[in-house]
Amino acid sequence: MKQFGFLGLGIMGTAMARNLLQAGYPVTLWNRTPGKSGELEQLGATLAPTPAAVMARCDITFAMLADPAAAREVCFGDDGVLAATTTRKGYVDFSTVDAATSQDISAALTARGGRYLEAPVSGSKKPAEEGSLIILAAGDRSLFDEALPCLEKLGKKILHLGAVGNGARMKIVVNMIMGGMLAAFCEGLALGEKGELNLADILDILDAGALANPLFRLKGAGILADSYSTAFPLKHMQKDLRLALDLGDRLAQPLPCTAAVNELFKGARRAGLGEEDFSALFKTLR
Ligand code: NAP
Repeated sequence: MKQFGFLGLGIMGTAMARNLLQAGYPVTLWNRTPGKSGELEQLGATLAPTPAAVMARCDITFAMLADPAAAREVCFGDDGVLAATTTRKGYVDFSTVDAATSQDISAALTARGGRYLEAPVSGSKKPAEEGSLIILAAGDRSLFDEALPCLEKLGKKILHLGAVGNGARMKIVVNMIMGGMLAAFCEGLALGEKGELNLADILDILDAGALANPLFRLKGAGILADSYSTAFPLKHMQKDLRLALDLGDRLAQPLPCTAAVNELFKGARRAGLGEEDFSALFKTLR
């Protein structure tokens, strides 16, 4: 039976690994900080001491890590994925990173005969739990085909976007738009509150017209309840805006709105809100 690995048991990784286990796949886990796998072990997961040990044991290893630095460390670091990459081994990285990070990992793995797929996801904690993510894969087609039954347990829409880098860029564009939407939403609510409007009325009116969308509905309910339990950490939203601005720099594409939005999120991080949900941006604007 094919063996599967999962590296990175944060908000998203834990939910995704759980879905693989519940679908009956044998999964070997690793997380940098120990002690996060108890529930998954009860579902039948086994633990390995390093990313290399997972890779050595598994045919296909998945990863869901914080950012480009984490993705590089887990691949290139001591006892990293690369150390155990041999012919035909598959590595599928769901982390949101820049195209260059993804391409560097791809080049290193394929030089050793391995296969690589970038597969950043759109959708947050709840879609991860429900297996309804949108998966933006790109890279090795044979690995995509082999991993597809697993990906179908994680996502409701699974795309193959061509060469490595396209998935990373697509994800950055999507999240840049989401960050801008959330910032405009929070500013509008803050202005409404100052102007003595009822926040529930604003949400109701938005939801009745052309601006109705699941993001405003979900985050609006949290803001109204003054509850910011973390689905998508604010620090990761700011990281994605940073990646978008970097891509804009490289391509000489002006991104004035995104630059301003990034400053808002940077300020929120400095205010100590990095670990809270990205909707906590509202706290800095009201
Ligand atoms: P998270 O809860 O912060 O988890 C991050 C994971 O990365 C943890 O397992 C963490 O390990 C690991 N990590 C961080 N730095 C590391 C390093 N240097 N070496 C090894 N492991 C490291 O984040 P998340 O919300 O699950 O998000 C994961 C990725 O998915 C991010 O790229 C994020 O942008 C993206 N994403 C998130 C969402 C969302 O709604 N949450 C949605 C779509 C995409 P420790 O436990 O040791 O800290």
